[in-house]
Amino acid sequence: MPSDTLSRTREILADLIAFPTVSADSNLALIDYAAGRLRQAGATCMVTRDPSGTKANLFATLGPRADGGIVLSGHADVVPVEGQDWATDPFRMVERDGRLYGRGACDMKGFIAACLAVAPEFDGTALRRPLHFAITYDEEVGCLGARALVQELARSGIRPSVAIIGEPTEMRVIEGHKGCYEYTTEFVGLEGHGSQPELGVNAVEYAVRYVSRLLEIREGMKDRAPVDSRFVPPWTTLQVGCFNGGAARNVIAGHCAVEWEFRPVQAPDVDFIKTAMARHEEELRREMKSISPGADIVTHTIGEVEGLAVVEQSEARDIVNELTGANHADVVAFGTEAGLFQQAGMSAVICGPGSIAQAHKPDEYVEIGQLASCISMLDGLRRKLTA
Ligand SMILES: [Zn+2]
Repeated sequence: MPSDTLSRTREILADLIAFPTVSADSNLALIDYAAGRLRQAGATCMVTRDPSGTKANLFATLGPRADGGIVLSGHADVVPVEGQDWATDPFRMVERDGRLYGRGACDMKGFIAACLAVAPEFDGTALRRPLHFAITYDEEVGCLGARALVQELARSGIRPSVAIIGEPTEMRVIEGHKGCYEYTTEFVGLEGHGSQPELGVNAVEYAVRYVSRLLEIREGMKDRAPVDSRFVPPWTTLQVGCFNGGAARNVIAGHCAVEWEFRPVQAPDVDFIKTAMARHEEELRREMKSISPGADIVTHTIGEVEGLAVVEQSEARDIVNELTGANHADVVAFGTEAGLFQQAGMSAVICGPGSIAQAHKPDEYVEIGQLASCISMLDGLRRKLTA
């Protein structure tokens, strides 16, 4: 590894942190900056905007135009800093005691900075298979960018076979995580006087029946847990986080909203829960409408993040284990874009610098030693791909 790679990573990280790419705001300036650096390194770049035109994904390729490439993927967006007590300006990188502070330092601009810093050291003409760099938008609000990216790749006929997602794992190799599916179900009833409940449609009471069904399904999840599940707890979890409805004790409730989520340990549980709840919703809706045609139930999808399933044969895990010298891989509780890449047919693994313990917090930082480990992994990848 050329000795200046680490100092270049530091400079690039300072530049990346200075782009305030909070999910609600544009990331175009950062994407432009990254594309500029990757083009200089000889990569071909594909920039695709979101429907609003204010955000973009970047997909860059070094090496042959062929199937079977390796994707290094990171999201450009960061969580907001409002209400957090930062010691310094979150969008200006500060170095202290071997750590680099700033919003996004570990989640996940440190990884992107390392990728951009090593890119010029890859000789595209010597690569045996393509190396792709993916920088996505809106991960923190439901992986919208990665979802669009895998569709774009399918449309363009680009078929990588391995994805390494550099979310902060302290450079440990992570081969699985639960999914996260979030919904708000709204009940619209018919208000009336509390003395004549049969003349109205009580939204709170229908919501209670809906929640009862959710809890029944939750109990059933324990029996569906795969015998070899490594998650804690080993089954798909479900919970109701918020329940809001009604106006007063003596008024038939006209409105109720239930916020709920589930975290599947396996893809079949997703269909199972969604189908069962859709059927129950339809039963309740029919009953409500038979009293008042204007009554209704609507389920809004807040976010659906696919889990990363642990698979026996995983090229991604084998490669990253080899590069980091690890001899096993773990599973984690937090969600990432990895499941999307897996569902798109790639072998996916998570490994990146910094700790999830610092992510989303005030005074977020990444240790310089972690960046050095990440650079040596990427350098190992370079040697592997040119050997
Ligand atoms: Zn992240």
